[in-house]
Order: sequence, then C-alpha cells, then structure tokens
Amino acid sequence: MGMQGSGKGTHAKMLAEDFDLEHIAVGDILRWNVQHHTKLGAQVRRTMATGLLVSDDLVENVVKQRLSEHDWNFGFIIDGFPRSERQAEFFLESYDLDGVIYLELPDSEVARRVLARRLCASCGMDYNLIDNTPTVEGRCDVCGGELIRREDDTPDALEVRLREYHEKTNPVLDIFRRKEYVITVDTRPDKEQVQQAIRDKLGISSPGPGATRSQDDTR
Ligand code: AMP
Repeated sequence: MGMQGSGKGTHAKMLAEDFDLEHIAVGDILRWNVQHHTKLGAQVRRTMATGLLVSDDLVENVVKQRLSEHDWNFGFIIDGFPRSERQAEFFLESYDLDGVIYLELPDSEVARRVLARRLCASCGMDYNLIDNTPTVEGRCDVCGGELIRREDDTPDALEVRLREYHEKTNPVLDIFRRKEYVITVDTRPDKEQVQQAIRDKLGISSPGPGATRSQDDTR
C-alpha cells in the first residue's frame, strides 16, 4: 500500500520476480481493459480518468476472477488493493494474508513523482523523468514504444486521487495495523535501498522459492 507514486508497482515487481510470486496490479488490469476497449474498460474509463475510485463491487469481481486462476503457487503480491474498508473486509474474509507493506511518502513528494511518471504505450514499462529516464527521450528502452503520461497523472486527477486516498484508503491501513500486519518503509531513498529495507523488515532477505517453500506448498 502507499500513495500514488510511492513505488508500489516497482517494489511489487521486484519481490514477485525474486520470490516467484504472482504480481497482481488492479490498476494495470483496469488500464488493460480500457486500452482494449472491453465492456469492463468502458465501465471504468471515465472514473479512472477523473481520479476517482471505481466501485467496490466491480473491483472485488476483478480480484476474485484474477485470483481464481490459481497460478500463484508460491503466493501473490497484490498492489492497489484493497483501497476501501469494504474491499479490505472482503479481502480479509476471502484470502490468507501474510503481511502488508506500507510505502511511506510525504505528500510533498507525491506530486513531483507522479507528474514525472511516464509509461510505454506498447509494453507498459514504467519510467520517471527524475531518476529512471529512458536512453532515448520519449522512447521505451525495451521495445522502442512511445512513452506517454497516464491519463490520470495530471494535476487535476491527482488532486482527486489524493483526496480519495486520504478518505478511503487510509482507514484500510488502520484496519491492517490493528491486525499487526503492517511493515512501514520510507520510500524516499533509491529503489534498491527501499527494496532491501522491505526484505529486512519482512525477514525474507534470501530470495528463491526453493529455499523457503516446496512446490507443493500452495495456499
Ligand atoms: P493505480 O494504477 O493503482 O494508481 O490505479 C489507477 C486507478 O484505477 C485508480 O485511480 C482507480 O480509479 C482505479 N483503481 C485501481 N485499484 C482500485 C481499487 N482497489 N478500488 C477502486 N478503484 C481502483
């Protein structure tokens, strides 16, 4: 969990890769649907563009459907969910959680990071114009695709997203804190340092699923 621009996607991907977890990003699933003009995409497009949260029912169905694929033998790391108290209740009732990573970022840093964020229109790779710039300006290092700004990474949409975060998502952290699930990591240092701090606090410093779990140890 964490505010916009706190690095949820980046750190989730790094953990997923080393620990063989499935990375599930609700925002990415929704954006895929918008880009591919699906029925679901049409339902969420305007809401997402303005920065509001989409309905709990819809998001719960997306998560339920995604997790029902059961491709997560070693577990999953989910980013951008839950973002409301109702989503948190649904999640706690339906799945076993090991922990919650809270990436802490002061409000003053959020706008600077979000407005510098760019995304490859072809492969979805993330960049930011502060410390992760592409080699060729405006082009993706991986596939050469065009780098664009997310439709909701604008000052107006960001204001709405931050309001939604404070009103609806902060209470979720309190629920998880009461259950003592939460580790908090300052996300201002560079991403390697932050990733190391996450692993230290979770006590998972040695990567590799073989080292910690067997193939049969599904959840
Ligand atoms: P993200 O990529 O996580 O910043 O999410 C982008 C947008 O997708 C949000 O501003 C919401 O409109 C929508 N969204 C993503 N996750 C959720 C969620 N758990 N609940 C409601 N809306 C969500």
